[in-house]
Order: sequence, then structure tokens, then C-alpha cells
Amino acid sequence: MVNKKRIFALNRKPLVSGPIIYWMSREQRVHDNWGLLHARELAGNDRPLVVAFCLAPAFLGATLRHYDFMFTGLEKVEQELADHGIPFVVLSGDPVKTLPQFARDLGAGAVVTDFDPVKIKQQWQGGIGQQLEVPLIEVDGHNVVPARVVSNKQEYAARTIRPKIHKLSHEFLEELPPLEPVTVGAPSFDPVDWQGVRQSMQVDRSVAPVNIRPGEKAGRDALSDFVHNRLLGYAEKRNDPNEEATSRLSAYFHFGQLAPQRAALDVAASGKGEDQASYLEELIVRRELSDNYCLHNPNYDSLQGAAPWALKTLNEHRDDPRDFIYTYEEFEQAKTHSGLWNAAQQQLLKTGFMHGYMRMFWAKKILEWSASPEDAHAIALRLNDRYQLDGRDPNGYVGVLWSVAGLHDRAWKTRSVYGSIRYMNENGCRRKFNVDEYCRTWL
Ligand code: FAD
Repeated sequence: MVNKKRIFALNRKPLVSGPIIYWMSREQRVHDNWGLLHARELAGNDRPLVVAFCLAPAFLGATLRHYDFMFTGLEKVEQELADHGIPFVVLSGDPVKTLPQFARDLGAGAVVTDFDPVKIKQQWQGGIGQQLEVPLIEVDGHNVVPARVVSNKQEYAARTIRPKIHKLSHEFLEELPPLEPVTVGAPSFDPVDWQGVRQSMQVDRSVAPVNIRPGEKAGRDALSDFVHNRLLGYAEKRNDPNEEATSRLSAYFHFGQLAPQRAALDVAASGKGEDQASYLEELIVRRELSDNYCLHNPNYDSLQGAAPWALKTLNEHRDDPRDFIYTYEEFEQAKTHSGLWNAAQQQLLKTGFMHGYMRMFWAKKILEWSASPEDAHAIALRLNDRYQLDGRDPNGYVGVLWSVAGLHDRAWKTRSVYGSIRYMNENGCRRKFNVDEYCRTWL
């Protein structure tokens, strides 16, 4: 049984007879998926279950890099669902129109979907919930402790959400049951024409796909590789960008190809040392703090989402002289005076992944070398979302605001341009890792 606290009614319509639709959105996987499991529960032994994916004509500036990873993952979802007797349908167009129409045509009894705090998803859910004549039910399959349960307000920092998560995680960090095949005959649909789907998209093709294997199985393999080969030493080495010490699972989490809960269970089962504790802090506390922030602050994608003290200090220092000011294009093309910054940008351009420690340095320098804090925020977010395979994620909105505007942080010693926002520089990096080696690798 899916814990009822994961389940949230997005409208107040009565459940009627007819097939159950699972509108797959943020959680693009068949296994370890609380939303799909709840839809399966509602279908029981007498209703068909159909999975629908809505393909909007464009999505928050996503590029070929992102679509390629997502489509390949979804192709595998279709095959895996077929093995469970569950058809998969892609609906192209505005989801607020296509999904209610599909539900009407199918005579659906209810629609189940994923929790997602990002505004566009909330708008879709709001519009669809109104138009449907049947229930629209949200299930949080992304957070170990559901975001709506952990707190009903924006948390100040990791230190305020941590005790709330720890108090509740024993209830929610449970093994996920297998998905039972559906035996009731489902309406039949043509297989998805993936080539047609790919060709129909007006996608920015200038950002090429990267060499990361997509899909649910690839995500599970990557998790297993991390737990068996790299988790040992994570606490000590995770801030060294020359080491392959972190999990590199963020794109799988972002596209929902791997359940964070699966990663948490496997890591927790491997031992109780400082490596496990350090990883679970990032995976659960830090990641779930991002969902909390985006759920409760509609300005999460703007500088206005920062705290008043941070906006005040940035404002007081907006006219401070800058040693360098770069345009978006100069940053994008890695044409700054700093070899270290350019190396980080090159790692991003070439691989679709920048090491977490470098992301902080990278964004802080964009603040230092932009004409205004607003420009810096916009440039950092645009580059992040265009090139990081895991971009357009609550973690990205929060990471950029943390770096540029002290979100979830505190005031530090005041200095030029930054005001009292925490400062980072190359000397600090040199004390932590071999900067020259990093530059040799990526330049
Ligand atoms: P690991 O160290 O293996 O951590 C495991 C998981 O914990 C990650 O996959 C991620 O889900 C979570 N996590 C780790 N660090 C953080 C953090 N600081 N905040 C929240 N969750 C965290 N993350 C994204 O998923 N998408 C983004 O677009 C993104 N942009 C960022 C931009 C900036 C400027 C900064 C400072 C951080 C950003 N992050 C983003 C957060 C973090 O850097 C990445 O999640 C992490 O580097 C991904 O690598 P990994 O999976 O190997 O991490």
C-alpha cells in the first residue's frame, strides 16, 4: 500500500468506473514509482491501467541534449510497461487540452500524476484538474519524506528542515513493492512512433547529446556502480573535482529514471559510516530542501526569490567597480581570463555535467564578473539549464540562488560586489584540490 500521506487530491471530483490513467511526468520509470504503484492500486483487478506522457511543444528551453536522454528513457519505459500489460501513450500538444480530452475519450475513472513543485507543472495540473470530470490525484514519488508533509512553509536552511526529515524518514524510507502486472484487457493503442515524435519536436539541436546511458536500467546500474565502487571515500573526496567520487546520479533523478528512495535504501543498506551519512545528507536533506523551497516560493527562478538581507546587501554593492565584466556569450564560450573558470565551463559544455564543487565557484564568479546581480542570476541560470543534463531542476534553481544570493546560507564578511554573500576564489580551490590538473583535463 502506498502511504496515504504521499497522496494529495488536486481536485474534488468523484472516482467513477473506467480505466485508471497514470499521467507520467516527473517520474519517468516503471519500478520504484509510488505514483504508478498508486494507479495500479486503484486499478485493482477489474480496471485497465493506461500510462500517458504529455509532450508539450517546448519545455523551459530544453535542448536536444535533454530530449535525447528523455526520449531514449521513455522508449524503454514503453517496453517495460508492455511486459506488465500496461499500454503507454504519448499525447502531443498543450497538456491542459490533450490530457482531459484523452481521459474523456477513454472514459477514465481517475488520473494519477507526480508531485512537481515547478510552476509550469503546477499550472498544467491546475488546468487539468479543473477540466477533468474525475479525480486528479498527485503522488510524491520524488521525495523520501513527501514535500507537502515535511513542512507547510519555506524552510530557512538545511538546519531547519533536517530535524523534520529525520523525524519522519523512518516512516517513509520503506522498501518499495514490485509493480504487479495488469491482467484486465486494456484498450489497445498503436506503439509510439518514436522517430515521428523526435522529428515533430522543434528542439534546439545546437546542444548535442552526451555520453551518459539513459534509462531506468542504466540508472540502476549507475547506482550499483557507485555503491560498490565509489561510495567508500565519498565524505572525504566528494569536493575534489579531479576524483570520480560523487554518484553522478543527478540526471537520472532529474528525469525520474531512478528513484531517490532506491538510492537512499541501497546506500543505507551498505553500512552506517560517515560516507553513507554524508551521501544521505546530500541526497535527502539538501535535495528535499530544494523541493521545499520551490513549492513555497514562486520566485524560485528569479533573484527576487532571495532573502531580504541578501537582496539588501547585493543592492548596497551593485555599483561597486568590477575587475571584469563578461557578456552571456563570453561566459558561454568559456572566454574569461580565468583558466579555472573556463575549465569548469568546458567540462559542462563537453559532458553535460559540472562537478558540484565547481558549480559553486562557477556561479559565484558569474556574480563577481557581471554588470549586476540580476544579470548574474539570469546568466548562471540560463547556462545551467541549457547545458547541465540535470538542469531545470529545483536543485538548479536553489544552487544558483545559493551561490549568487545566499539562499539557505548566512551573511559572511562583507567585501566588494558580493556584499555579505559568501565568497569563493581560486586560492581556496587550490587548498582543496589540484587546480592545474583540473585545468589540464578540461582545457
Ligand atoms: P552527489 O554528490 O553524488 O550527490 C547525490 C545527490 O544529492 C545528487 O545527485 C543530488 O540529487 C543531491 N545533491 C547533491 N548536492 C546537492 C546540493 N548542493 N543541493 C541539492 N541537492 C544536492 N543539481 C541538479 O540536480 N540540477 C541542477 O541543475 C543543479 N544546478 C546547480 C547549480 C549550482 C550553481 C549549484 C551550486 C548546484 C547545483 N546543483 C544542481 C546541485 C549539485 O551540484 C548537483 O546535484 C550535484 O553536483 C550532482 O552531482 P552528483 O549526482 O554526482 O552528486
